[in-house]
Amino acid sequence: MKKSQKLYEGKAKILYKTDDPDKFIAYFKDSATAFDAIKKATIKGKGALNNTLSSIIFQLLNQNKIPTHFIKKLSDREMLVHKVEIIPVEVVVRNIAAGSIVKRLGIPEKIPFKPPLVEFYLKNDQLHDPIICKEHILAMKLAKEDEIEKMKHLALEVNNILSKFFKDHGILLVDFKLEFGKRPDGSIVVADEISPDTCRLWDIKTGEKLDKDRFRFDLGDLLEGYKKVLEKITD
Ligand code: UDP
Repeated sequence: MKKSQKLYEGKAKILYKTDDPDKFIAYFKDSATAFDAIKKATIKGKGALNNTLSSIIFQLLNQNKIPTHFIKKLSDREMLVHKVEIIPVEVVVRNIAAGSIVKRLGIPEKIPFKPPLVEFYLKNDQLHDPIICKEHILAMKLAKEDEIEKMKHLALEVNNILSKFFKDHGILLVDFKLEFGKRPDGSIVVADEISPDTCRLWDIKTGEKLDKDRFRFDLGDLLEGYKKVLEKITD
């Protein structure tokens, strides 16, 4: 597969065209950002780790019949994906209260959500990714009613699969963010990445935070946490 023109560069990844018009290459960078990119750093090796972790997770979802954009891992930092048009809505699933919901609603940290919460955020850095509801998505024509239902349904299915997978490896899946893409045939698939950059992952035994909160709040070496996740899920 030949990498050609750069299509898009985001905070953590670069997307390239390939010689196949239906396939793109996602390249994982070593950059870490938090709080609307106010906090930034280059962390050597992060891109390769996130590519590996994301590839394992997407593979698991594909095996469980969840439609995703993932085709295969190509190299240390690259994965081959299907071409999709990203829906500019971030879908967050929460099993336990942490992060923005604690700040916004005053819910104490660690309160469990049963059933899990599904939230929508507008993917717009300039507006600081505000929380939105289904009616906003419809009013802004970001997705149709059935597509919103599909995203919600898939997000909850992903939550079931990943919660069990991580639990079996000693990790609590606290919350995570998904992005969805539209394939040329109109179908909705899970896209972007799923990694400790986009999930909160706590060690079940020790409570240690193994995800990007280490970087956000200077809790310890970021890569050490991500490596522990990789070790646990590949043990
Ligand atoms: N998240 C993400 N990208 C974003 C916002 C959130 O990947 O732009 C993830 C985040 O890592 C966490 C979950 O979504 O696992 C919920 O994030 P939250 O709303 O609590 O925001 P935060 O406090 O992490 O900014």
